[in-house]
Amino acid sequence: MPLISFAIFRSAGVRFGLPLLFAVLMMLSLESALPTLAPYQGLFLVLPYVLLTTVIMLSQPFNQGKTALTALLMIIAFYIIQSHLQSPLSDNNTRITYVLLATLLPLNLLQIHLLPERRLFSRFGTGYLVFVLSQLAWGILVVNHFAGKNLDHIWDTYLYTIPAFSPLPVVLILLYLSIGLASASAILKRNQGYDQAVFICLLFAGVTFSAFHHIFISSAAFSIAAVLLLLNLITCSHELAYVDQLTGIPGRRALETELKYLGRTYTLAMLDIDHFKKFNDKYGHKTGDDVLKLVAQFMQQVRGGAEVFRYGGEEFTILFKGKESNQCIEHLEQLRKGIANYEMVIREHEQRPKSNLIGAEMRKDIPHEKAVKITVSIGIADSFPDHNPTNVLKAADEALYKAKKAGRNRLSH
Ligand code: GH3
Ligand code: MG
Ligand code: MG
Repeated sequence: MPLISFAIFRSAGVRFGLPLLFAVLMMLSLESALPTLAPYQGLFLVLPYVLLTTVIMLSQPFNQGKTALTALLMIIAFYIIQSHLQSPLSDNNTRITYVLLATLLPLNLLQIHLLPERRLFSRFGTGYLVFVLSQLAWGILVVNHFAGKNLDHIWDTYLYTIPAFSPLPVVLILLYLSIGLASASAILKRNQGYDQAVFICLLFAGVTFSAFHHIFISSAAFSIAAVLLLLNLITCSHELAYVDQLTGIPGRRALETELKYLGRTYTLAMLDIDHFKKFNDKYGHKTGDDVLKLVAQFMQQVRGGAEVFRYGGEEFTILFKGKESNQCIEHLEQLRKGIANYEMVIREHEQRPKSNLIGAEMRKDIPHEKAVKITVSIGIADSFPDHNPTNVLKAADEALYKAKKAGRNRLSH
């Protein structure tokens, strides 16, 4: 089922753990695996271009502009590696190009974390391309400036390397480590798909430059990075379709998918926040949104194998597979009481709508910080005697209506 197989990619741990695992496996198999690619040399020289171009093309309709930017940087970097970095690093020009690329690529990747999310094929994208091309022009000037000059003192001091370990200067290894940590913390903090895209590219660019003396390293590393970017794009678009943006729990479409794969025994519950319209009018839509998030958090803690969904608006659905309704009542009662007993502190005065005159009038007497309580009503129905999910959902909705009529803050079936 799509929901289960893709949900795992949403966890921050997997988001940076998976690329890390691939990178480590690649480093471990450098000596053994890469030389076996020799017969497919032609394929591996074009594969990164094909895969990264696919990433860029898919990023446009999927609205993943930042992922497209990372792929664009990787294509340019791969082109430079293939066209200018195929002679030994003992050559001065090659070495300068190598150091410039190994410095500018991670810095540009890091910058993507901070850029706004815009499509690549737009005015913003054109501006970004000009910015990257101007760096290339500057790079060419630098290489030409230092061509033929003796730079031994620079290599031996600022750009000191430990040849037995890596041709990458120690200072650049440190740069990669610190930028990599910053990128990983962005994933842990925001858990956005584009942050993972940056991290993937940083990681495999780092692998490429630090093991640069290995044959096919760039083709292999850039191909794996591109495959991970594609996987990331698919996961992100899946998330857009199935996960509710506000609360972070699966949405209506996910519920409808789940309902198609139910067995004979299951229980469905419909939950609705009491007097939510009044709450919105009094405290503002933003605070209303916070309540929705809070209720979603409470719902995620429901035991007994509950799967939770935002049905729409301030209504939620809870699904218990393989359980009859009397096995679920206790868990749902716990949820209802937990929400009813929770004191929510309202702080953000200025975020309430100022245009709503009635709301403004009502808000006059709210102190600057106030604890409010909310309640929910729940209707529950199981798959006996009718197995049809549409009918069970309808029965749960009717039970919810009963709970509302009976005075709210209660569970009915
Ligand atoms: P009842 O106890 O009978 O359920 O009363 P109610 O006011 O909760 O019921 P009603 O269905 O009339 O109102 C639902 C309100 O939920 C209307 C709308 O303003 C609010 N609402 C729906 N979706 C959202 C949302 O995403 N954010 C916020 N803040 N409010 C929402
Ligand atoms: Mg409602
Ligand atoms: Mg309501």
